[in-house]
Amino acid sequence: MHIVLLGLPGAGKGTQAKMIEQEFDLPQISTGDIIRLALKEQTEWGKKAEDFVKAGKLVPDEVVIGLIEERLSADRHPKGFMLDGFPRTLVQAEALDRFLLSLGIRLDMVLYFDVDREEVVKRLSSRRICERCQTPYNVMSKLPKKDDICDLCGGRVIQRSDDRPEVVLQRLETYDHQTKPLIDYYSLKNIVKVIPSRGDIQDVYREVQAVLRLLEK
Ligand SMILES: [Zn+2]
Repeated sequence: MHIVLLGLPGAGKGTQAKMIEQEFDLPQISTGDIIRLALKEQTEWGKKAEDFVKAGKLVPDEVVIGLIEERLSADRHPKGFMLDGFPRTLVQAEALDRFLLSLGIRLDMVLYFDVDREEVVKRLSSRRICERCQTPYNVMSKLPKKDDICDLCGGRVIQRSDDRPEVVLQRLETYDHQTKPLIDYYSLKNIVKVIPSRGDIQDVYREVQAVLRLLEK
């Protein structure tokens, strides 16, 4: 079984991936892990990626594709795999199809974890953190006892700039802009399954389970 996971930041994709990995014995292959490993092992593509990573720049499509192909060729995945964080662009998706075709593999399913935007903005923008000891707080569920003062160390409790509602909205827009063409591309192939990602983690997982069990047959 070969699947791709797509979903907004905050859609709970990571948690679901772990559960899928356990039950279906599918290794989760994430772009972040691949890049870290390639840098560490100084592979051919790892060296190419290094300059971009060190400069804090986005690794270009061509290099990301090289890294993924390098990794997928190096390891054997008899039961298949689950890609997370790749493809991110249409160019990457097309390259992936060509590469899989050369291995005689067809992508079985793209799981798209769809969240309520307002919910994500609310969830992310309610987060707070202690500036000093990094203890997490939350204005909806876990406020410090004294206003803006950390219970543990007395440090200042702040909102990270990434979590400000306008920044969260910006991130969501960037994601939509990138992902929409991907969803369209895979929809034409009839392999997109939208998983509404709200409420209980277990309920969301039951939907995932149902889809994957059908694929297994
Ligand atoms: Zn603290």
